[in-house]
Amino acid sequence: MAVNEPLPGTSDLWEPEVLDWINLEKQARNIFSRYGYTELRTPIFERTDVFVRNLGNETDVVQKEMYTFQDRGGRSLTLRPEGTAGVMRAIANKGLEQGEEARVFYFGPMFRGERPAAGRRRQFHQVGVEAVGSDSPWMDAECIAMLVHFLAELGIHGSRVLLNTRGLPEDRQAISQALLDYFQPHSNALCEDCQRRLSTNVWRMLDCKNPACHEIALGAPQILSLMGEASRTFFAEVCAGLTELGVEYELAPRMVRGLDYYVHTVFEITHPGLGAQDALAGGGRYRISLPGDKRTFEGIGFAAGMERLLLARESLGLQSPPSNRTDTYIVSLGAPAIPVGLRLAGELRQAGLGGRVKADFSNRSLKAQMRSANREGASRVLILGEAELSQSSVICRNMTTSEQVTLPVGELKNWFLQA
Ligand code: AMP
Repeated sequence: MAVNEPLPGTSDLWEPEVLDWINLEKQARNIFSRYGYTELRTPIFERTDVFVRNLGNETDVVQKEMYTFQDRGGRSLTLRPEGTAGVMRAIANKGLEQGEEARVFYFGPMFRGERPAAGRRRQFHQVGVEAVGSDSPWMDAECIAMLVHFLAELGIHGSRVLLNTRGLPEDRQAISQALLDYFQPHSNALCEDCQRRLSTNVWRMLDCKNPACHEIALGAPQILSLMGEASRTFFAEVCAGLTELGVEYELAPRMVRGLDYYVHTVFEITHPGLGAQDALAGGGRYRISLPGDKRTFEGIGFAAGMERLLLARESLGLQSPPSNRTDTYIVSLGAPAIPVGLRLAGELRQAGLGGRVKADFSNRSLKAQMRSANREGASRVLILGEAELSQSSVICRNMTTSEQVTLPVGELKNWFLQA
């Protein structure tokens, strides 16, 4: 790795991609606020137990992927691998009255020590939402519909909504036993992770990506059919809500998603433009309790990978065009012209004229400064020479049409507004 390259799985972001990111955030704010969500910003690191308690000790994220370190006071801290746990800590800290709801959205970098691949990064970014305090299935339907609305606003067509339920905790024991009874006889054929999961997290074997495990999982009992009445009714209402809102979805009976805190609804959105890592977003309903806090918070939320949203847009030909570094370039010829160019640039910026304005302080030849203006993509060049200084005028060149006029400085505004 060259010395100045970013670490594997991380990257530097330049324009015009930055413009796509800004647009993504703008659309998220626009859509989510229509549904009553407000923005929340939480710290990038938290006490490690905030994640371990919430995500579950047996999850891949906690077992293998967290960036955990000790600070100088000997505390164990972790760079956030996902957004929900920190958001829940913030909501618990602020307090939620009985019957009160919190609806928030967030953006930001997340960190997971995964093996980098196309679409899989160590620092990636998520946009996510959490609606906490409502235990209604209609809320789940509305939340999924909001995500679908957001994708449509971004122009991302062709994605699939995959839906399943994990039911209520009271159904778990019987389902886990049925799954264990099914998988146990196949144990020799399972991947290493699934062999461990037999004793730690048998549900995760249902959506293991290993081809041999997948083949075996196809014959596993359907978890929905093993659930009690309350779980099945809840799921039926989520489905009815989606139909009510015109959201197309597919049932995915083996999708359980990685984290232990899910109850009832789980969902994922995939997009064919993403290649092997085709998950655009995922989420579900959860019950979370925080370290040292007796309360349990129930909510529904999702997170979408921002890099993947942009990749999906790119696959549809929707990325921002390359932008110019400069719109207006001020050429100053000779030392006395330089402070005049400096002031003129300041005045244009104050007046909001000329877009991205740059004054050249190099005291180079006209030819050299014009070459720089071209390289930067400037569409207008203002030239200040000795004659112009003495007359308080300026040469104005439209680089697109090659038209050039000399104008008093006072008339510059009109020239910018006309051309
Ligand atoms: P998760 O929190 O694992 O459900 O992830 C939610 C979304 O974040 C996924 O659907 C992806 O779009 C994105 N994502 C998760 N992990 C990564 C990663 N390592 N690199 C890039 N995007 C990711």
